[in-house]
Amino acid sequence: MSSLLLRGIGWLYTCDERHTLLENAWLHVVDGRVAALGPEPCPVPAADRSVDLTGCIVVPGFVNLHHHFFQSITRAIPRSQRATAFDWLFSLYPLWAELDEDAMRAATAAACAELLLTGATTSVDHSYLLPARAGDLALAQVETAKSLGIRFHFVRGCMPTMEGDIAERLRPLMGGRLDGIVDDGDAVLAAMRGALQRFQDTAPFAMTRVDLGPTTVTYRKPDLMGRIAKLAKEFDAGLHTHYQPRAVEYDMARDLLGNTPLGFLRDSGWLGPRTWMAHCTELSDSEIDAFADAGCGVAYCARTAVRLGYKVPRIARMRAQGVTVGIGVDGAGSNDSGSMLSEIRLAHLLHRVHAGPETVPERDWLTPYDTLLMATRNGARLLGRDDVGQLAPGMAADIAAFDLRRAAYVGTVADPLGGLVLAGADAAAALTVVNGRVVVERGRLVTADEAAIAEHGNRAAERLLRAAEARTGLAFRIPPGPGPRPTVPPIPSMRQ
Ligand SMILES: [Zn+2]
Repeated sequence: MSSLLLRGIGWLYTCDERHTLLENAWLHVVDGRVAALGPEPCPVPAADRSVDLTGCIVVPGFVNLHHHFFQSITRAIPRSQRATAFDWLFSLYPLWAELDEDAMRAATAAACAELLLTGATTSVDHSYLLPARAGDLALAQVETAKSLGIRFHFVRGCMPTMEGDIAERLRPLMGGRLDGIVDDGDAVLAAMRGALQRFQDTAPFAMTRVDLGPTTVTYRKPDLMGRIAKLAKEFDAGLHTHYQPRAVEYDMARDLLGNTPLGFLRDSGWLGPRTWMAHCTELSDSEIDAFADAGCGVAYCARTAVRLGYKVPRIARMRAQGVTVGIGVDGAGSNDSGSMLSEIRLAHLLHRVHAGPETVPERDWLTPYDTLLMATRNGARLLGRDDVGQLAPGMAADIAAFDLRRAAYVGTVADPLGGLVLAGADAAAALTVVNGRVVVERGRLVTADEAAIAEHGNRAAERLLRAAEARTGLAFRIPPGPGPRPTVPPIPSMRQ
């Protein structure tokens, strides 16, 4: 039996059914589960380990619903900095096509470290770029996540088609390398089944689970969506993809399938409570209603919406209609940051901005408690989990603590949880615990050496940059030396 005692907790917000907020509290962990909690004085005489959390706010560890770990070694790429979605993808695929097993390990470690350091204890990785030539990338990810200590939902993805005209634009630059990252449908289904057989763990408190989903809805390979849905059901897995149908997708669904994007999802068995979709920035009223009726959820990725110039997702409308909304940081290519608490803070505010004629009345604005619920219990529910997302006896001991004794939090005593969400200059957790294991302490990762992760990641990034430059003849880096700084060529000139 192992035990951990958190003492003198400044404020403890449990996210339980009663939304309990305790001041000056304690929490006792036994064998990875919350055994008991309450206001001081603590009746538990001793534990293997005791941590004093005076001045800290403790919350359930956050659940990150959307990420692409491999992108963590391709952040702030100059060619992608001013690009909207398709041009952004066009500018990054030459780098991502060079991914290998070592790079995947480096990127996964960086992503997991950043998540744990900012309070996330469970994370999805929507892993859709797994070229067969690169080795056993799935195993690389599962092993790395395990060693860092995060609770991992490996969404075994695929890319059976590329969006828009990206493939035609990339072929002159990348040649045969392009074929290595676009998947064959039958091979992908076999690989998905293989991942489920090797890694799926549906037991309560499981540290690794497998879900499925292509990077986008596959209108051009329509049978694939249904086959993936059937496979997911067989292994009790969830379904996940990006969904924000643009005009071109409505055209494709109509011309190829005589359907709408939503109708195609429904016909393919994708509208259900085990499905959660990323972004959903373009949902119509009827789509929101259909999501609510089916129990289909949404991963709200605020920073990507801003970074790529998407519309603001209609979070208030979704919530009003009963759609379960959680929060995802998205890949570090389109977020650049993979910080969970930073994402929560932006998500809390962004939905108030209205796009087009629709305004969001104040009464529909999220409170900090609403937003925290989205980042914890809602996320857990959308992953089909009832063992994480709140702190109560019998739940997993997945815990994040933030020290409010910082200049940026001064004056938030009236509502410390509001302070955590609305104030704060950085997002560093003082303590992160996953399944009873301390993984971050005093703001430092304890399951790995953060400096070594950074060095490994940057080395892999350099390798990808060099390889992509050699293959395409394009420059991907701002060269060092005296200014003036060169202006990064606008996207159209990349078709050189
Ligand atoms: Zn994404």
